[in-house]
Amino acid sequence: MELVIRDLHASIENQPILKGIDLTVRTGETHALMGPNGSGKSTLANVLMGHPKYEVTGGSVRLDGHELLDLEPDQRSLAGLFLAFQYPVEIPGLTVGKFLKRAAELRSGEEKLKVSSFIRELRETMDFLEMDQNFINRYLNEGFSGGEKKRMEILQMLTLKPVFAVLDETDSGLDIDALKIVSRGVRRLSGPDFGSLVITHYQRILDYLKPDFVHVMYNGRIVVSGGGELAATLEAQGYDWVREEHGEEV
Ligand code: ADP
Ligand code: MG
Ligand code: MG
Repeated sequence: MELVIRDLHASIENQPILKGIDLTVRTGETHALMGPNGSGKSTLANVLMGHPKYEVTGGSVRLDGHELLDLEPDQRSLAGLFLAFQYPVEIPGLTVGKFLKRAAELRSGEEKLKVSSFIRELRETMDFLEMDQNFINRYLNEGFSGGEKKRMEILQMLTLKPVFAVLDETDSGLDIDALKIVSRGVRRLSGPDFGSLVITHYQRILDYLKPDFVHVMYNGRIVVSGGGELAATLEAQGYDWVREEHGEEV
């Protein structure tokens, strides 16, 4: 399968942010998207998840030929796209366990999953992520630290087993342990039936993730793409050369 982004344009409050994104992610591939702060990486993630604050002004996003931009966020998830929390809200009374079970039921099309086998698999996944089992009974997002939110996101991904995952490493509050968890989760799903786009500005995650492709976003466009070796160039040289080559387009 393919996730194909073509000439994607998007604005926020009438301000153009994405200025023609072209990117194809195939199953079996791991892509890293990097780039300086403010280049539009999180905007891309938000547009892919269908956040209402962003207006798509052109282009297409197709999953296996089907236009995703016409779909509601939950339909995108059913189509096999994983995006972390649409809205990272606290939901009083909704525990992590109930939330994940409901999400897994929606994804599988089963009305009710068997509690015992669901819980068994969930516990196994939590062990894999080195998460405390008590987490199952906590209320969703209530008082979660940045690292706990990140673990929750990966737990959700491993529970849903999507075809494509888009993960945005938000800029603040994440330590290297949280990044390792993300890498571990992505690598667990990695294989011929899974593709990922990991958005990060930490070079170090790439040591764990070993992406097949690295892309650099600058000023709302992907300006450089390469293999894993591009990460080493960025590590050594930073983004100044990207700015020098593409700054005049600002
Ligand atoms: P990155 O994730 O690469 O750091 P963002 O997508 O967060 O970049 O931001 C791209 C640009 O869009 C920035 O100039 C930022 O100020 C602007 N932007 C992002 N989100 C909003 C928002 N909710 N309201 C106004 N401007 C925004
Ligand atoms: Mg940012
Ligand atoms: Mg960001």
